[in-house]
Order: sequence, then C-alpha cells, then structure tokens
Amino acid sequence: MNPVATADLARLLFDGRYEQAHKDIGELLLDPIFDPREGLTMNEAGKLAYERSRVVHAGLERPVEILRDPWRLFALAEWPSLVDVSTFSLLMVHYNLSFGTVVEHGDRPELKDLVDELDRLDSFSPYMATELGYGNNVAAMRTEAVYDAASETFVLNTPDALAQKHMSYSGFQDVPKLAVVMARLKADGKDHGVYPFLVPISDGTRLHEGVHAAPCPEKPVQGLDNGVTWFDHVRVPRRNLLHGDMGGFDENGTFRPSSGNQRKRFLRAMSRILPGRLCVSSSAVGAGRASVYIALRFAAQRLTNAPGRNDLPVIEYRSHQLALFTALSKVYAMTLLLNHAKREFVAAPDAVPAELNHLISITKALSTWEMTEVIATCRERCGAQGIFSVNRIADYGSLLQGLVTAEGDNQVLLATTAGQIIAQGQAEGEAPSEAPDPTGRDLRDTAFLLAALRHREQELLRAARASMADETRERTYLDAWNDTMNTGLAMARVRGVRTALECFTEAAEEAETEPARTALGLLASLYALTEVQRDAGWYLARGVFTADQVEELPQALDALCVLIQPHAEILISGFNLSPELLRAPIAADDYVAAFQRRTGAFGPAGAQITTES
Ligand SMILES: Cc1cc2nc3c(=O)[nH]c(=O)nc-3n(C[C@H](O)[C@H](O)[C@H](O)COP(=O)(O)OP(=O)(O)OC[C@H]3O[C@@H](n4cnc5c(N)ncnc54)[C@H](O)[C@@H]3O)c2cc1C
Repeated sequence: MNPVATADLARLLFDGRYEQAHKDIGELLLDPIFDPREGLTMNEAGKLAYERSRVVHAGLERPVEILRDPWRLFALAEWPSLVDVSTFSLLMVHYNLSFGTVVEHGDRPELKDLVDELDRLDSFSPYMATELGYGNNVAAMRTEAVYDAASETFVLNTPDALAQKHMSYSGFQDVPKLAVVMARLKADGKDHGVYPFLVPISDGTRLHEGVHAAPCPEKPVQGLDNGVTWFDHVRVPRRNLLHGDMGGFDENGTFRPSSGNQRKRFLRAMSRILPGRLCVSSSAVGAGRASVYIALRFAAQRLTNAPGRNDLPVIEYRSHQLALFTALSKVYAMTLLLNHAKREFVAAPDAVPAELNHLISITKALSTWEMTEVIATCRERCGAQGIFSVNRIADYGSLLQGLVTAEGDNQVLLATTAGQIIAQGQAEGEAPSEAPDPTGRDLRDTAFLLAALRHREQELLRAARASMADETRERTYLDAWNDTMNTGLAMARVRGVRTALECFTEAAEEAETEPARTALGLLASLYALTEVQRDAGWYLARGVFTADQVEELPQALDALCVLIQPHAEILISGFNLSPELLRAPIAADDYVAAFQRRTGAFGPAGAQITTES
C-alpha cells in the first residue's frame, strides 16, 4: 500500500475536507452503541435509531452550528447511514429539513425557546410536507392553517383523507416531537399559499390535543415511525408561523404575504429541499463506496475453484472484475460529480441560479440511481454473505429505495429539470453540435469519449426542443410533453454523465502522485466506456463510433479491468473506511475468523483448508 497515493485519492474524494469535516463523525461511529444488533423488533430498531441519533448529536457541535457550514451538514449525511440507515433519516430530517427551515424562516427572538428545544434535541422535529394525495404534486397540498385574528392563533386542520400528512415521523408517540408542518395559510378569506408552521406533536407521553397519528405499514430494514398524521382544528399560536421573508403581520394584525406569486413563496418555504438533495446524494455515494469497499475486500479473500486449482480469489475472474471495477468507477464518478455540485451550492448562498438547480437535481437523480445499481451488483457479487444485514450492503439497498423517492422522486425531478432546460431555448451563438470523428481514436481516450457524450447530450436536447415545437399536428401541451419527455429524460441523464466525466478527468489531472493519476485515468475511461456501451446503438447509428469500435467495446472493457486490478486496493483505500468502522465480517482482514466470531460458530476455525491441486 502507498500511503501518499492513498492520501492523494482521499484528498480528491473528500475535496480536501476530510480532516475538518468528516473525520470526527466517522470516529464517533466507533462507539459501541453503533455495534450491529440482531433480534430486535422493527419498533426496537426504530427506537435504537433515535438513541443513536442522540449520541451523534451529543458528540458534535450543535445543529445550529452545523447548519452554518454546509460541508459539515453534507458530511453528517454521509457517515451515519454506513452503520444504521435509519439514523441517517432521522438526523437529516431533524437537522436539515426541519431545523434548517426553522433557522432560515423563524430566526426571531420570540421563537428562541422553541429553537433551543430543537437545537438541544429535547424534541425531534418531523418534517410534514407530503400528504397522502400530494407527493410529487406536493405544491397542491391541502392541509390548511386558517388565521383567527380574535385569538391570534391559526387553526390547523386536515380537510379530508387525501390531505393527511404522509411518511413523516409521527408514529412513536413517546418521543417528544415538535414538527415543521407545511400548510396552506388562509387569512381574511384568502389562500396565501403554503407556509411552514412549528407545531407541537407529542410531549413524550401522548399526542397533543387535536393531533392524530397512525404508523404507516412496516417497511423492510428501517424500523422508523413513518406515519400518517392529521389535525383536527389544532390551535397554533401566531408566533409559530415561520414566515421569514415570505410575509408577516402588519401593525393592524393583518397578514401580508411578500410580493411574488404563490409558486415562488412555496419554493422559498421548501428551501431546505435543495441542500437536502445534496445530503441524499451524500448518503447514497457514501453507501456506494462502502459497498464497493466491502465487496472488493471480500472478493480478494473468497477462494473459489478454477481449472486445476481450488483456491483462486474470485476477483481473479474477469466477470467479477468487470462488475466490481465498473461499480468502483461509478462511485468515483458520482462522488466527484457531487463534490462539484456541493461547491457550486456553497458558492451561491443567497440566490440559486437555474443552472445550479438543474445541476443539483440531476446529481440527486443520477447518483441515487447509479448507487442503486452499484449496491445491487455488490450484493450479488458477495453471494449469500451479501444478504446478511451485518455485511451492510443489503441494508444500503433498502436505504437507496428511499433515497430514490424522497426529496424529489428521481423520475419527476429529472423530467422537471429536462422540461426547464428544453424550455430555455437555444442560447444565442450556441454552435450546432458536431459529432467527433472516430477514425483512429483510441477507445480509452477520455477526450474522445467526452466529445461523444457531449454530442449525444446536444443532439437529444435538439430533438427534444424540435419535438416540443412541432406544429405539424394539433396537440395539447400535455400531448407535446408526453411525446418529448423520454427524450428529455435521456438528455438530462447524459448531461449528468458528461459533467461527471469532466469532473473525473479533472481529478485525474489534479492527482499529485503518479499511482493515483494512473489509476484515476484508467477508471475514468472505464466509466465513460460503460456509458458509451449503454447506448452503443445510438452512437453507431450516428457514426460517432465505427462498427469495429462498437464490436471492440467488450474487449476494451475487459482490457481496462486487467489494467485496473493492480490499483484496486489503493483506489478503495482512498475511501478512508475501515473494517472497524463497518463491522462487516466480510470486510475484515480474515473474513472466516470474523464470521466465526459473529455467528459464535466455533467449528474447525484455524484448521488447515486442504485444496486439491
Ligand atoms: C423513506 C421515505 C421517507 C420520507 N420521509 C418524509 C418526511 O419526513 N416528510 C415528508 O413530508 N415526506 C416524506 N417522504 C415522502 C416523499 O417526499 C414522497 O414519497 C415523494 O415526494 C414522492 O411522492 P409519492 O410517494 O406520493 O409518489 P407519487 O407522487 O405517488 O409517485 C408515484 C409514481 O408516479 C410517478 N409520477 C408522479 N408524478 C409524476 C409526473 N408528474 N410525471 C411523471 N411521473 C410522475 C413517480 O415517478 C412515481 O414513480 C418520505 C418518503 C420516503 C420514501
């Protein structure tokens, strides 16, 4: 192992912030409370996640300080899910979605007691936006908060079953909860749109008067208390309205919304969703890296049969290499793309330009989808060991199912982004896209592969714009969008891939050590070539690749795997993970001994394994 190259890779993966933002969070997770526990009921597992969240809270600076430093918030999203996927969900909802909303829109002296209550984690804060009938269409939510001037209170009410709050954490009534509830503010007979309210849900013994909750049905792995919550004319003091710069009460006690339309105010009220998407991606790539780390360490130890011998590490097979090195290339690509999106977000603290919004949405969708695939591959390549919770990867699979849907369902998020990019129209002076000439180009040449991806992105965008603008047929807007959206989705996806490859090649150039530079260069080629193979038919039809090159793709991928293999160990060492942190027996230096210890099976450990020659 080369510690200098390891440090170089870690610097690139953690954007030079490992020591300052990540290290202590990882160390905190060595606490025995995070040791794997078995035989818990789902409720017990959920309660344990609350206990573990309190340990994380007690071991770090206060949430209010974490919110001041987005890098720290993103790091907090990345680590706890490695040892308990439910703890991640609780922490992110509390720190970012709820408390972030309170700090951003409720920073007033009159709310200090409630802010402190959440900052101290005396109460957890569920975030109640989604309703049973309003998920991806949450902007049309129906929970209402009607202002009663006489008592200076809002009356919070759930008008019907579809308006019940859905999926937020209200199922455990013995945990004190002070929620951020999104509701339609109605005053003086007018609907002013959606605003956040601070609403006491439970005092730790029972639900507050007028608040009703029922747990959602069980889901695999995560024993958390996602629930259905409804309000029956609950009185909420006027001060609990988190209006921020979205309006306020004038001296006569009349509510005045800020200028701008309801849509703009809605996006402002839901402002924490944007960093939330970066948190979701952070957790996804963290889980992806850990999966690849575990699977590759196991693959180097797991002996199998081969012609003439019975002790070949399974990683020596090209089929295993192709699966796991491709997964490795994807976790690098998505980590580097995410770092880029985080940097852009941190650089634009006040206003989020449309381009940044698109980048964050594409990063969230692409990274969570890619990590879903990576995790499924790693699970499968670990055989039966891959299905045990203690070996982590199966649990990460469950985490990813939630991440793909929460904080903007990937499909809808990407379609919305695509629609906005298409509607932007061609920028003045934008050159028509030219296909790169494939003649004589090396399939490992990332400059060529990048040009090919860029061409596909631009061609899809051109086709999508032409489809929307097509006036040869009588169509409604919905018809036009339906004819276009799948092209738009493909365009938005390839934009993410192209950006990721740009970040990847830059990282390879920025590497300060030769082993890191070489390894990253090879991995970037593997990432890009895998993408080209995915749409090889399109590239062939457009003459971007020759027929010979397309035929050569499988061999080129295999050949890259051969070159990457000597670098695999160093590439995963840059993740700064350890068997001690993950506690997965198959990631241990001696997986057989670790598995024996874990299961309490004291069979013939230490006995010589005889192999046929
Ligand atoms: C683990 C988990 C935790 C959650 N925690 C919270 C929480 O704490 N607080 C909270 O408020 N919410 C929470 N949610 C809810 C989450 O925000 C919603 O699930 C999400 O917004 C999607 O809404 P939905 O589930 O109603 O999906 P639906 O809107 O019912 O979508 C169903 C399907 O239809 C497709 N679809 C929907 N609309 C369109 C469209 N316009 N165009 C094309 N396709 C479309 C979607 O892609 C999806 O495949 C959580 C969700 C999960 C999974």
